[in-house]
Amino acid sequence: MSPEIKPDFLISPEGLRVDGRRPDELRPIELEVGVLKTADGSAMIKQGKTHIIAAVYGPRELHPRHLTLNDKAYLRCVYRMATFSVPDRKRPAPSRREREISMVITNALEPALFLEEFPRTVVDVFIQVIQADGGTRCAAINAASLALADAGIPMRSLVPAVAVGKADGVLIVDLGDAEDKYGEGDVPMAVLPSTGEITLLQQDGSFTKEELLEAIQMGLNACTYIHELQKDALKRAYLRKTPEKEDEDEYEDDLETDLGESELPEEADE
Ligand code: UDP
Repeated sequence: MSPEIKPDFLISPEGLRVDGRRPDELRPIELEVGVLKTADGSAMIKQGKTHIIAAVYGPRELHPRHLTLNDKAYLRCVYRMATFSVPDRKRPAPSRREREISMVITNALEPALFLEEFPRTVVDVFIQVIQADGGTRCAAINAASLALADAGIPMRSLVPAVAVGKADGVLIVDLGDAEDKYGEGDVPMAVLPSTGEITLLQQDGSFTKEELLEAIQMGLNACTYIHELQKDALKRAYLRKTPEKEDEDEYEDDLETDLGESELPEEADE
C-alpha cells in the first residue's frame, strides 16, 4: 500500500506526482452517508486509498457526568486507527497522535455546530480509520461532518478539509502517504464554506510566507470542490430516505434549511 522505499522523485520531470496527479489534483473521493444501521448518523469516505468510517451518537446523556457543560452539548470526537490500517501493525492502545488528532478534529468541527441547542448532553463522534494512506485527519473531518448532518445535528455548514504540502519544492494538494512521509511539509486545513472561517490549520515542515499563503488558497479551492461532493452525498442519502420527493429543487431547499444555510449570505465565488 504505502511505499517503504523513498521514491526517486516526488515530482517527475513532466511535473507529475508519484501517482500521476497534477500538483493541484485531488485523489478520487467517494462519499457515502448513512452507512451504519446502529448509529444516529454515519458516513464513509474513500479518498484515494485512505478509507474511513465515522459514526455519530447523540445528543444523549453524558457519562461521566462531571464533563457536563451547562450551556451546550459536549462534542466528543474519538479518532482511532485500526491495527491493520497501516503497513506496520498499529498497537491497539490509543496513541498520543490519535489523541492529538481527536482534539484537532473536535476543534475543526465544533464551530459548525449549534451545540448550544442541546445543553448538558454529549454528541459522540467515533472515527475509525480502516486504511491509512495519508491525509487521514482531513478525510476524517470530511466524513465526520457528513455523519453529524446525517444525525440531524443542526449545523451552520458542512466542513470540508484537505492537506496541502510541498514536494521537490512544488506545492501539492491532498497528499498521499509517500508525499506525506517524504515531502518537505504539509498544511492540513478545514474551512466553514458558509463564512470562510478556517477551523483547522496546522503546519509541518517549513514554508515561506508566500508559499504558505498560496498553499492556503490552494486548500480553499480544494475545499470548495470537496464541499460540493459532500452536499451531493447528503442529497443522495436524503433521496434514499424520502424517495417520494422527486423535485430536485425541493431537495436543495430542504438541504439548505437543514444546514442552516438559507439565512446565510451566498458563498463567495473563488
Ligand atoms: N501512519 C502510519 N502509522 C501510524 C500513524 C500514521 O503508518 O501509526 C501513516 C499513515 O499513512 C498516515 C500518515 O502516516 O496517513 C501520516 O500521518 P499524519 O500524522 O501526518 O496524519 P495524516 O496525514 O494521516 O492526517
